[in-house]
Amino acid sequence: MGENKQVLIGENLFDMSGGEPALIVTHCKSCGDYFFPKTFTCHNPECKEKDVEDTLLSRRGVIENYSIMNYPPPPPFVAKDPYEPIVCAAVKFPEGIVIIGMMENMTADQVKIGMEVEVTVGTLYTNKNGEDIIAWKFKAV
Ligand SMILES: [Zn+2]
Repeated sequence: MGENKQVLIGENLFDMSGGEPALIVTHCKSCGDYFFPKTFTCHNPECKEKDVEDTLLSRRGVIENYSIMNYPPPPPFVAKDPYEPIVCAAVKFPEGIVIIGMMENMTADQVKIGMEVEVTVGTLYTNKNGEDIIAWKFKAV
């Protein structure tokens, strides 16, 4: 990450207390579902008790699917110039939840379904004020 001011994209998304980032998820003790970002209730319509707790997700998952963004996303996203295609991956974690995120340092010809990745934190984009917007990302293991 550069010398720009860093701004987190949201509160309570990840925990760095273990030295490495882990995503904060809500686990429903009644039905077993996981939710990200964390939530105050269970969103499973079949669930009766909705007894939820916050927990940290496993740091590693597997790419279940991915998409290559060949065109720059719309504002407020400010893409690198010249634009480099962004790899977005849907990563399945051992807990069963699938989370979408941008791949760090990965090009379209490197990404593969089934690849093991881990959670990292990095710059999603740089805004008009020159601030780096920081979010969760995934990187190859
Ligand atoms: Zn539930």
